[in-house]
Amino acid sequence: MSLALPVATHCPYCALQCAMALTPDGRGGAVVTARDFPTSRGGLCRKGWTSADLLTGPGRLTTPLARASKTGPLLPVSWDDALDLAAAGIRAAQERGGPDAVAVFGGGGLTNEKAYAVGKFARVVLRTSQVDYNGRFCMSSAAAAANRAFGVDRGLPFPLEDVGATDCILLVGSNVAETMPPFMSHLARQHDAGGRLIVVDPRRTPTAAAADLHLQPQPGTDLALANGLLHLAIAEGLVDRDYLAARTTGFDDVRAACASWWPARVERVTGVSEPDLRAAVRMLGAASSAMVLTARGAEQHSHGVDTVLAFTNLALALGLPGRPASGWGCLTGQGNGQGGREHGQKADQLPGYRSISDPAARAHVAAVWGVDPDDLPGPGRSAQELLLALGDGGGPEALLLLGSNPVVSAPNARLVAQRIASLSCLVVADLVLSETARLADVVLPTAQWAEETGTMTNLEGRVLLRRKALDPPEGVRTDLEVLAGLAERLGWPTGFPTDAEAVFDELRRASAGGRADYAGISHARLAGGEALHWPCPTVDSPGTPRLFLDRFATADGRAVLVPVDQPEPTEPVDDDYPLHLTTGRIAMQYQSGAQTRRVVALNDAAPHAFVEVHPHLAERLGVLDGERVKVSTRRGEAWLRTRVTDTVRSDTVFVPFHWGGKQRANSLTDDELDPVSRMPSFKVCAARIDRLHADAAR
Ligand code: SF4
Repeated sequence: MSLALPVATHCPYCALQCAMALTPDGRGGAVVTARDFPTSRGGLCRKGWTSADLLTGPGRLTTPLARASKTGPLLPVSWDDALDLAAAGIRAAQERGGPDAVAVFGGGGLTNEKAYAVGKFARVVLRTSQVDYNGRFCMSSAAAAANRAFGVDRGLPFPLEDVGATDCILLVGSNVAETMPPFMSHLARQHDAGGRLIVVDPRRTPTAAAADLHLQPQPGTDLALANGLLHLAIAEGLVDRDYLAARTTGFDDVRAACASWWPARVERVTGVSEPDLRAAVRMLGAASSAMVLTARGAEQHSHGVDTVLAFTNLALALGLPGRPASGWGCLTGQGNGQGGREHGQKADQLPGYRSISDPAARAHVAAVWGVDPDDLPGPGRSAQELLLALGDGGGPEALLLLGSNPVVSAPNARLVAQRIASLSCLVVADLVLSETARLADVVLPTAQWAEETGTMTNLEGRVLLRRKALDPPEGVRTDLEVLAGLAERLGWPTGFPTDAEAVFDELRRASAGGRADYAGISHARLAGGEALHWPCPTVDSPGTPRLFLDRFATADGRAVLVPVDQPEPTEPVDDDYPLHLTTGRIAMQYQSGAQTRRVVALNDAAPHAFVEVHPHLAERLGVLDGERVKVSTRRGEAWLRTRVTDTVRSDTVFVPFHWGGKQRANSLTDDELDPVSRMPSFKVCAARIDRLHADAAR
């Protein structure tokens, strides 16, 4: 099929999914131009502008690799041999240990079609319950909280354009100026119209520096902060009693839970001053419209669900959700962080955001798949529990992994890498030889974003068509072709189409009637330029850009306020580990860095990890700016260059997480899990810094 040039598509990276056009350059690459679009407003960040460098960049895999023995090197093999070896490894593991001896691990960057096919492959072909994905590390706390409070989980329940129209924003734990720069144009529009911005972050990030008010709490204390703000809102008569009575339940219990969070106590626990607390709540209370937006800073904790609930409580008490240019929302991180969690690659989920434990949901999806509902497995382990159960962890002995690099991105990564290395069979589908792929028995080289068509669901629940702009290199296959090839070898010669539109049409039927209903969305409608936010139950439906206008998605239509309390830290600082460590992203790299570290322009701009240290702390430790130091926690250590800056609290250090080896932030992070979402505690643990001997410090 000839393509109309330039090809209208979207960026391969984050959940903003900025619009771009690609013009093939005739040498296997493409030229990027920005397109106008309501979310990105004609903008791209440097990652987007350089994204075509991925197509021809160094390290691209173009032939399958396999080892002749566990200790042998990875060597080129044919596709048939690679798929035969992978299928044989899977079959042998299941003969020894049954269906759950094989696990599947997906990713939040996979298209909706791939996420759907991964879940179906696991449940139908492998009949394993052991399937989860790296989105568990991204969005799961916000998802669980939104389901509890509102009855549905859609990152932003309103279009991004509403952000520019609101009077006041409370932005918690997000550094959009670096992680999704075009988002700043919405904040600029809001500011130019006289709006106010409050940012909550332990670091004075570029986003915080642009705010009218920056609250800089100790990492891990956002819940106390939110309860303290609600305490003040109640005390100052700012809550919306009529709204609470008409549209919610649970306020009385929440009021009681917040009663003990008086300002002086909040200041003692969080470090945020009483005047700043009062200023924040008065800004929110005086606004004619307002939004509370949370992100990973609030969510990636062993009490992440409760922390998000504390902020949904605040938003509901102020009467915001469902009102014009107002509400609570979550800023999704990964490119398909939203769609990736709706269509079945999560351990407890079937397509359409259905529960795998619900008999009616099982019957519906089994009918679409042409299998007996009783043959579908039940819920499996969550991502970190699955990774730690692998191999000599006593769980699955074989793993099929797509679109993820957990050796860099999982918490307590040293232990995760040990478990992965102990598998009897590891099959990795990836476009480069990532740190995880290097441990594989079979590596399958796959196509990337511009080389295949598929849909993504952005942070506002809008489904987007990412069109193929050029053919993949010779020797490369799509993930859908990989799954079809494995399915065929494992006894399923049909049922796994390789055409994305055919997969999407099946997904539509599987999602019909579910919470994330895509039945009315089609590739053709998207190609025609329609803006379609789910739920979109029929082909005549315009979709649902704004949720909750009349009712919430709970059984009685009311939103739920849930009493929550700040827990004791799971890993308090002490004499051995006296610092709070927090982790996050920087502007020039993305996630595990498997892609962006191979883009020369990005890597030249940000070639290595670092640890941010406040000048007072640097002086106390006797370390200089740029000196290499050892950062340690109870799980491991990393060797990092210091970046001495007063933008971070003096009791806190920050490390970005885009690198492996000795620079791996996740050698340090804590894998204590949230009891509900099973989100690890990426955002806070206890750490120490030691000087290295002179040679190593250079
Ligand atoms: Fe791509 Fe995100 Fe940058 Fe937009 S903000 S260009 S989607 S990485």
